[in-house]
Amino acid sequence: MSGGSAIRGSRVGAGPMGEAERGEAAPREYVSYFCANHHVIRPAFAAEAEIPDTWECPRCGLPANRDQANPPAPPKIVPYKTHLAYVKERRSEAEAAAILAEALENLRQRRRDGEVIY
Ligand SMILES: [Zn+2]
Repeated sequence: MSGGSAIRGSRVGAGPMGEAERGEAAPREYVSYFCANHHVIRPAFAAEAEIPDTWECPRCGLPANRDQANPPAPPKIVPYKTHLAYVKERRSEAEAAAILAEALENLRQRRRDGEVIY
């Protein structure tokens, strides 16, 4: 009689069926989100979960959406750039200096010619 309970005990939890039924193999949906920094995030959602339109990029913190061609614009305030800063992005310092020198020389010339009086 005592041997019977020992056999029964060895079978408890031995099968993998219970785990599968509890959701370990539940279908998941991988959704791609794209942020303005061209990061791609692919969180997995349970099949029955509601898929949000936006997701926060874990790499840069920007909002991401599901439209790769048109990710949401960064909501943070972009640091103000002066016109000179934009010029410097396009040109080297030396070129900028040359352009400035040329402009100054042009201004001096026009002053000498009387066109510019200030
Ligand atoms: Zn990002």
